[in-house]
Amino acid sequence: MSNVKNIALIGAGIVGLSTSYYLQSSGHKVTIFDQNDPGSGTSRGHANVIADYGVPALNQPDIWRNLLRYIFYSDSPLNISWSYLPKMLPWIVKFLKNCNSKSMNNTAEQMTSLLKDALPSYETLLTEIGATDLVTHKGVLYVWMNEKEKPTPDQIEVRKKNNVEQVSLSPAEILDLEPNLNKSIKGGWYFPRAHHTLNPDKILNKLFLKFLEKGGQFLKERVFSVNPSHGKFKINNRDFDCLVICSGAFSNDLVNQLENKRIPLETERGYHLEFLGMQDYLTRPTCLIESGIYLTPLEYGIRAAGTVELAGTKKKINESRLKYINYYAKQLIPKLQDYQNSWLGYRPTLPDCLPIISKSPKLENLFYGFGHNHLGWTLGPITGKVISGLVNGETSNNPAFSINKFL
Ligand SMILES: Cc1cc2nc3c(=O)[nH]c(=O)nc-3n(C[C@H](O)[C@H](O)[C@H](O)COP(=O)(O)OP(=O)(O)OC[C@H]3O[C@@H](n4cnc5c(N)ncnc54)[C@H](O)[C@@H]3O)c2cc1C
Repeated sequence: MSNVKNIALIGAGIVGLSTSYYLQSSGHKVTIFDQNDPGSGTSRGHANVIADYGVPALNQPDIWRNLLRYIFYSDSPLNISWSYLPKMLPWIVKFLKNCNSKSMNNTAEQMTSLLKDALPSYETLLTEIGATDLVTHKGVLYVWMNEKEKPTPDQIEVRKKNNVEQVSLSPAEILDLEPNLNKSIKGGWYFPRAHHTLNPDKILNKLFLKFLEKGGQFLKERVFSVNPSHGKFKINNRDFDCLVICSGAFSNDLVNQLENKRIPLETERGYHLEFLGMQDYLTRPTCLIESGIYLTPLEYGIRAAGTVELAGTKKKINESRLKYINYYAKQLIPKLQDYQNSWLGYRPTLPDCLPIISKSPKLENLFYGFGHNHLGWTLGPITGKVISGLVNGETSNNPAFSINKFL
């Protein structure tokens, strides 16, 4: 390849590691900076769903109907910290402006343009790293016990419009598929095309080992500042031709330095509990809609993951969220026993619920890949492929995912 670049990439989550893979495959030399171990952030704790059915996003008109419940009741899938509310208000206002049918449909359409290539990009990557046994194809179930919580006609219609295969199931059909679920389930939908992964730590580790095998360098360092000069970047006293920021929910300080503006990036905190050794109780990821949590069978147990907490990145674990997940996990599968592990992670979210996958408008050789909210595990590989195309000059910014819309 004629134009080999010496690239710095900040952030070793699924987005950063996948992007490094595609950049290395194009012949570039990549150095990853991360203050923590590779793959030890949000990318290890999710519900493991490769959610190619993942529309609509959170920005739905329905949010208005439930707003008071989210603000005032802790027993709800979305929880707001009062002390963080003033700081978060500008983001909340922008987000609420997107909670209408037009924005919901636009987000769904743009997300679908990425989701349709998500699985093939995953399969390429998993084959390359020898991890095809760590993904399985069983579909995903959405179920409810409270009739009021079943999907709205709008939600069903958006999926239909975007070619999501969805099958309505009766309680008996659901229990045929998953006999250990609560017998009080009133109904559900099945997404037959969805896949799920069985051990994210193993996948992230294999990706990282492939990165090293291909000559990549990993520096366990936090990046506080980046000095661009004459088309180059100095990062922690080293020089690079090109910079890619994949720092998830923590990307804003670097964006601010480089673009002279903070963008409305916030975090939707989410939690998981793991019930070790109980994987035989369930075959496929199952979401109890009213709780906002998924139960997913992994290689080594069941992970109950989900909920949204708006409380920033600094507040410690909220024990009442763990109790909430534990309660609803046992509602869904009554024979679950005690959990062993708990975890908190930070979904990076912009108010239109679209990720930024973009070239900088200001600096040559500066690129961004962050803001994948609820779908980062699904969209990591396709994001890497798109960024590699941007770096190689093979594609140009898609306005829907461009950082320009916030500058
Ligand atoms: C409970 C829960 C369930 C979820 N379920 C799913 C699911 O089923 N399917 C799905 O597709 N998605 C899911 N997601 C979303 C998904 O997990 C995220 O979108 C995704 O992991 C984000 O990946 P990332 O690489 O952008 O960020 P991260 O994994 O957070 O990686 C960013 C990295 O950047 C590093 N970093 C940040 N700043 C700096 C700096 N200044 N210097 C050096 N390093 C830095 C961090 O240490 C971190 O390692 C879920 C999320 C949660 C919380």
